[in-house]
Amino acid sequence: MSTFEAVPALSKRVRPAAAIGFGLVHLAALGVVAVGFSWKGVLLCLASYYLRMFAITAGFHRYFAHRTYKLGRVSQFLLAFLGQTSAQKGVLWWAAHHRHHHRWSDTPQDIHSPRRRGFWWSHMGWILSPDYEETNFKAIPDLVKFPELVWLNDNMYLATMLYGLGMWLAFGWTGLFWGYFLSTVLLWHGTFSINSVMHVFGRKVFETTDTSRNSFVMALVTMGEGWHNNHHYYQSSASQGFRWWQVDPSHYLIWAGEKVGIVRERRRVPARLRVPGAPAAERIRVARERLDELTRSAVAAVEAAGDRWAERVDALAVRWVALKGEARLRGNQAFLELETSRNRAAERLIALQADYSAAAGRRAEELRDEVDAARAQFAEAMERLVAFAESLGAADPSPA
Ligand SMILES: [Zn+2]
Ligand SMILES: [Zn+2]
Repeated sequence: MSTFEAVPALSKRVRPAAAIGFGLVHLAALGVVAVGFSWKGVLLCLASYYLRMFAITAGFHRYFAHRTYKLGRVSQFLLAFLGQTSAQKGVLWWAAHHRHHHRWSDTPQDIHSPRRRGFWWSHMGWILSPDYEETNFKAIPDLVKFPELVWLNDNMYLATMLYGLGMWLAFGWTGLFWGYFLSTVLLWHGTFSINSVMHVFGRKVFETTDTSRNSFVMALVTMGEGWHNNHHYYQSSASQGFRWWQVDPSHYLIWAGEKVGIVRERRRVPARLRVPGAPAAERIRVARERLDELTRSAVAAVEAAGDRWAERVDALAVRWVALKGEARLRGNQAFLELETSRNRAAERLIALQADYSAAAGRRAEELRDEVDAARAQFAEAMERLVAFAESLGAADPSPA
């Protein structure tokens, strides 16, 4: 946490013109009161909502931001166009900001982290900010190479205006106010809640470094994006519901698109994440990986220390071999005792090193300490032996 505190607080400015525009669309949505209630209006609103929610979730999010499946160039453009009818700025702007979110989730760099900058900022404040209006093209080199997408991104409100006009021409005032304005406002808040609600409410199932959650209700509201903790844990899958009961309509449609040949190379969740108990199994798997990593680094450290130790022991051994031939050493009780303790230390060291190679079940650090201690003991026994031989007056024999 302390590393985050070094980062200066990011601004929370809002552009007044953007806020006024945003407010006016909400006011326009109230036009449904003037038009009056009708089932046709409700149906138009819902159909328009889910049609465009699909373009946001399956399109902006899973296709453009995460590239979890492939499309032809025409269908790619149509999906981007449909997504932009939702008035959530340009497709490239959206994808670039979303990649940024995953990169910095809930750190101070995260533009819409409820934990860092508050619920309402994460919900809609950041969208109205003058600080995040630019599209970061560096974050989306794979998308910038399509000039038609860049054009669409530059003309970010064209699609939504055409869509509103179409609603009005086709369905009259009911179409404009129920099918366009109210539907668009609901769609905004439905989408925004992924950034706000889904980082605050719901269940955290998988161990992630961010605050992402899972929610069945939000999965219904957002066509499957409610499995946001799943998604933060494994981002490169076209599905966000990992279990059969985790409703994910966007993914069903992507799957159907694959069946009819529009979608290619749909990326799936690994089987290990699709079984009951997967989150617990993942925790164990990650812990094991960490332990293995720890063992590997400890082995490397012991090996490095071992090289230095071996040099010292080699020098002692040379000296010892030279002294050993001295007849005076033979039969001496003290010498026998020292020789025995050296042999014991050597045996212990060999046993420990064998253990160490198969260290999976033990704490590598403890074992490393034991190996170090045994080595020190062995070297010490050698030193005592050499010193003892020298004390007997056998010093300076020519090395054999
Ligand atoms: Zn995402
Ligand atoms: Zn998120």
